[in-house]
Amino acid sequence: MKVSIVGAGLAGSEAALQLAGSGVEVDLFEMRPGTMTAAHTTGLPAELVCSNSLRSDLLHNAPGLLKEELRRCGSFLMKAADSCRVPAGGALAVDREEFSRTVQKMLYGQELITVREEEVTEIPEGKVIIAAGPLASRPLTDAIGELTGSESLYFYDAIAPVIDFESVNMNLAFFQNRYETEGGADADYLNCPFTEEEYYNFVRELKGGKRVSTRDFEKEIHFQGCMPVEVIADSGDMSLAFGPMKPVGLIDPRTQARSFAVVQLRMENKAGTAWNLVGFQTKLTYPEQKRVFRMIPGLENAEFVRLGSMHRNTFINGPSLLDERMRLKTDDRIMFAGQITGIEGYIESIASGYLAGKLMAGIDVLPPDETAIGAILRYPTRTVTDNYQPSNINYGLFPPLKKKPRGGRRARREAQAERALESLGNWLSVISSEK
Ligand SMILES: Cc1cc2nc3c(=O)[nH]c(=O)nc-3n(C[C@H](O)[C@H](O)[C@H](O)COP(=O)(O)OP(=O)(O)OC[C@H]3O[C@@H](n4cnc5c(N)ncnc54)[C@H](O)[C@@H]3O)c2cc1C
Repeated sequence: MKVSIVGAGLAGSEAALQLAGSGVEVDLFEMRPGTMTAAHTTGLPAELVCSNSLRSDLLHNAPGLLKEELRRCGSFLMKAADSCRVPAGGALAVDREEFSRTVQKMLYGQELITVREEEVTEIPEGKVIIAAGPLASRPLTDAIGELTGSESLYFYDAIAPVIDFESVNMNLAFFQNRYETEGGADADYLNCPFTEEEYYNFVRELKGGKRVSTRDFEKEIHFQGCMPVEVIADSGDMSLAFGPMKPVGLIDPRTQARSFAVVQLRMENKAGTAWNLVGFQTKLTYPEQKRVFRMIPGLENAEFVRLGSMHRNTFINGPSLLDERMRLKTDDRIMFAGQITGIEGYIESIASGYLAGKLMAGIDVLPPDETAIGAILRYPTRTVTDNYQPSNINYGLFPPLKKKPRGGRRARREAQAERALESLGNWLSVISSEK
C-alpha cells in the first residue's frame, strides 16, 4: 500500500512518520516554499504559525494529558517538541525553528517517506490523508467542496507580535513567574507593568486603533480561544485586566506592589533574543501595532521581529462528512486529519495526525472514549450538533466519572487523567498485539 498525504504540517508530518513506522510507503505533498500560506513564513515542515507554546504540561489540564498520552503512544512530533523545549513555567514551549528542523530530519531520515514540494490542486488517486490545515490552498478547498458537495466552514484566527529583547526597557520590565516573588533573569516571563492611568490610555488607543478589514462578503467569526486583543478590549474596559493582562501573582520589584495590569512576554527562541506578547494576537494594521504596542511600559522603543496578523481558517463539517475513522462517508479511501476536521490547536493536530497514521495503517480497535486521544477522534466524527465549531481539547469532551472524588475540580481532573492513562495503556497493548 502507498498513501498520499496532503500537507507536511503538524498532522501530516506525524501521520507520515506513523505510517512509515508501520512499514507503509508515503508520498508527502507540501506546497511551501513554492506556494506559501498567509501565516507560514518558512518552507519547513510542522511550522508553528503563531505562539511557540504547546500549552500546559500539567495532567489536570486536558492539553497536558493529551501530551502525556502522545508521549506514551510514541508520537514523533511530541518527541521532537520535548527535545526543543524553552523555559515556560508549567507549559511546554519550543524553539520553533529547531522543532521544525528536527521534524524535517525525521521525515528525511525515513526511507519510506518521499517529500514532494508540490501544491495539490485535485484530490489524489488511491489512499489519501488530507491534512492541509486551516490555510489549505484555494484550489484544494474548491476540490474538497466539490467532493463533499458542501461549502467549507471558516472562522478567523490572529497571530501575536514578537519583540527583539534588546529593545525592551529593562528599567521598567521585570522577570518573574506568577506567584514566584523572587523573579530574576531565570524566570520564564518578562512583565511590563501598567499604572491605572497607563492602562486606560492603552485600552482607549487599542479600541480606536485602525484594524485590517475583512472582505465584505465574509462575516467575521472568531475562535473563542484566539480572540484578537482589541476585540477583547471592545467587550469592556476592564476585560483585558481580568484576561490576558491580569496582574495576579506578580509583584513589581520597584514598587513591591501589584500593578494595575501587566503585559507578559514569553521567550520565543532558545537564544532568548526574541519574545512574544502573550495573548496579544491582533488584527490592528502594522503601523497601528507599532504605535499602540509601544505604549506598553517597557516597550516604548520596541523593535518588532514579527508583527501580528489575522487569517481565515477553513474547516469541514466533520461530524456530517466523516465516519468514525475520519474517512469520508461517501468515499472511504479519503481520510481527513488535523485542524481541517474542526479540531483546534497544535497539540490536537499532532494527535489527529497520529490517529490518521494509525488508522490508515489498519489498526482495528479505536481508542477508548475516556482518553484524550479518543476525544480527539470523537469530536470531529461523532459530535451531535447543528452548529459545528472548532474545539481545543478540554475535559468537557470526556465522559463523566462514574464516582466523583472529593476535593473539587482539580481532584476530578486528576481522577479523569488517571482513568485516561490506564485506558490508554490497555488500548496500546491491544493495538500492538493486533500486528
Ligand atoms: C493564524 C493562525 C494562528 C494559530 N495559532 C495557534 C496557536 O497559537 N496555538 C495553537 O495551538 N494553534 C494555533 N493555530 C491553530 C492550529 O493548531 C495550527 O494551524 C496547526 O498548525 C494546524 O495543524 P495542521 O497540521 O492541521 O495544519 P498546518 O500545520 O497548517 O499544515 C498544513 C500544511 O499543508 C500545506 N498545504 C496547504 N494546502 C496545500 C496544498 N494544496 N498542497 C500541498 N500542501 C498544502 C501547508 O503549507 C501546511 O504546511 C493557529 C492557526 C492559524 C491559522
